[in-house]
Amino acid sequence: MIPSRASFRDIPLYSPSKTPCRVDLGDNTNLFGVAPAAERVLRESAPALLSRYPRGYAPDLRGALAARVGVAPEAVTTGCGSDDVLDSALRAFLEPGEVLAFHVPTFVMMPLFARVNGLRVRQVPPREDFDLDAEALLATEAKVLYLCSPNNPTGTVLSRAAVERVVERAPGLVIIDEAYADFARGPDFMDLARTRPNVLVTRTFSKAWGLAGMRVGWGVGAPALVAELEKARGPYKLTTLAEAMAVAVLEEGSDWVAARAALAVENRERLRAELVALGLSPLPSEGNFLLVPLPGAVQVAERMRERDVNVRAFQALPGVGDALRIGSGPWPLLETALVALRESLR
Ligand SMILES: *Cc1c(COP(=O)(O)O)cnc(C)c1O
Repeated sequence: MIPSRASFRDIPLYSPSKTPCRVDLGDNTNLFGVAPAAERVLRESAPALLSRYPRGYAPDLRGALAARVGVAPEAVTTGCGSDDVLDSALRAFLEPGEVLAFHVPTFVMMPLFARVNGLRVRQVPPREDFDLDAEALLATEAKVLYLCSPNNPTGTVLSRAAVERVVERAPGLVIIDEAYADFARGPDFMDLARTRPNVLVTRTFSKAWGLAGMRVGWGVGAPALVAELEKARGPYKLTTLAEAMAVAVLEEGSDWVAARAALAVENRERLRAELVALGLSPLPSEGNFLLVPLPGAVQVAERMRERDVNVRAFQALPGVGDALRIGSGPWPLLETALVALRESLR
């Protein structure tokens, strides 16, 4: 075998256990399905479109997002999922060997992207209330800081005061991952992306917006910052169909999305009450999921899978311990999951 880069060899392939289950609450996607506007694009698209390259840098989506957020198109970037936006940002703003810092627990892909890009990582443990320890994060002096709010997997949000302090004092780029902003009650941090030169806010069509299979993510930042990021991204990260569907959902489907997000939140709280009745203590959540601390979560999830229900299990999360992350969606799915959980706890 031809050896790969030395720093590459012991990086694991990211592959969450994916035995297909009838009820899958494992990845926080929109379990209500896809917006009618996206379905229409799929139905009406001419096959001839598939043999041509898309236009570079997804200009239609860029324009539509810019209009929605109230910025110039040059302040918007897009990518093959927000994974791609995050990965491109690391490539654009850090040399191999430099440091990426983030609070833990958080999005599992970040340590992986860091390693693939040859970066070093500093992890900052959570405060008791899961807010950001701004001073500890700043003390890393890392050139890129990653924040996630509402945070995956905890569901908790970061306080305005802590985020602003980090943005004020950071020596370099601050990424704020808002994959779950559509489910949150409070104001988001998009205003910081509009007004500060060092902030990139990322969003995705994979969760509330119902297009996980099409792989569409985006970000907002100062035009000078976005220009560097776009170089790392490359021209053809969005397919023609993905771009057209995202534009359609954005322009005609926001009401559909908002209504489903509201229902996901309502059912999440209904699920919380049932879990509390089982003696469990889910963390406060502003995402479309609940994190439930539970010793032996991996074994419980395994038994739930035997009952055709998939949830995500975590081991020894900082500040939490073992835990299950359960996605919210239509109530009948959550009810099925509850039955499987009750049987698996015995
Ligand atoms: C799901 C998720 C993403 C990215 O998803 P994409 O499908 O790549 O857009 C990014 N950040 C967090 C925190 C997520 O949970």
